[in-house]
Amino acid sequence: MKKVLITGAAGFLGSHLCDRLIKENYYVIGMDNFITGDKKNLEHLNKNPNFEFIEHDITEFVKIEGGLDYILHFASPASPIDYLKIPIQTLKVGSLGTHNLLGLAKAKKARILIASTSEIYGDPLVHPQTEDYYGNVNTIGPRGVYDEAKRFQESITMAYHRFHGLETRIVRIFNTYGPRMRLNDGRVIPAFMGQALRGEDLTVFGDGSQTRSFCYVDDQVEGIYRLLLSDYVEPVNIGNPHEITIKDFAEEIIKLTETNQKIIYKNLPINDPLQRQPNISLAKKVLDWTPKVGREEGMKITFDYFKSLTDEELFKSEH
Ligand code: NAD
Ligand code: UDP
Repeated sequence: MKKVLITGAAGFLGSHLCDRLIKENYYVIGMDNFITGDKKNLEHLNKNPNFEFIEHDITEFVKIEGGLDYILHFASPASPIDYLKIPIQTLKVGSLGTHNLLGLAKAKKARILIASTSEIYGDPLVHPQTEDYYGNVNTIGPRGVYDEAKRFQESITMAYHRFHGLETRIVRIFNTYGPRMRLNDGRVIPAFMGQALRGEDLTVFGDGSQTRSFCYVDDQVEGIYRLLLSDYVEPVNIGNPHEITIKDFAEEIIKLTETNQKIIYKNLPINDPLQRQPNISLAKKVLDWTPKVGREEGMKITFDYFKSLTDEELFKSEH
């Protein structure tokens, strides 16, 4: 049985990756310090003999007993309000944390896949974004802590590949959604769905003309799994190219949730990218991957998940 370490295991994507790798017959070690994650996301794996959990902050030295075949490095705050609230931890997990994981991969001769992001393109001047675009990031803006940590993460990963011959993979993840997103993490989908369920108006930032392209979590996990097993070393975009303005998206959610809520407009956060859409030609070519779940289907599953939360969870406000 192959052994895989998943950092950020108690988070949204990390917990889905734990499920997928267990399903593929791997022995999974999940690691997390719960800074933005939730124990509940892993509860169903507590008694699984092919799963173990280690509570640890990966910015400190990471120790694993025995051999290790793969590392999926997903630990990092991922939503703008999280990384604005904990900027130093965000920079540390992307830099020191990634360095620790690369060192571990080298010691264990394991293959490591790191979670990068469409944010490395910043507010992009090339549209849709191809992997050869270098990006447009404001290093000193409030989002810079995340974007630059992820850009450093890519650089140090390629340096370990070139200098130490480490087997590395880099996925550039575009906005992904699905069950187990945190209701109060401030990202647009939980924000709109939570507002609809609480009977509040939907808050569109700016005039809502900015665009995003949303990928359902199962498609994202499939792309990541294929990349892990592929021979492709340079970064690969994984996302759903179906682009929509945030205003149109709010209207879609109002329809889906059958609420009578209105849209209200709030200030656009600083450096909020105006447009984002992945070019996925490379993923099609090297991974034979395309997303399969349309927005209507994916949003319905996600809304069913948020509807299943208790009133206490729904009305608890962390921010
Ligand atoms: P999440 O916040 O749900 O999960 C991140 C997990 O990492 C949390 O459980 C958190 O507790 C853990 N973590 C953070 N710092 C840690 C540390 N120092 N030590 C140990 N654990 C730590 O976020 P997510 O959406 O699941 O994102 C996971 C990864 O995917 C992140 O690296 C993120 O940058 C990347 N990503 C996600 C998206 C998306 O749309 N969800 C888009 C681009 C990139
Ligand atoms: N957004 C919004 N209302 C909200 C939350 C977010 O209009 O209540 C906007 C946000 O300004 C951005 C888009 O939705 O333009 C996506 O935001 P999210 O935080 O989900 O992800 P990111 O900006 O990192 O793509």
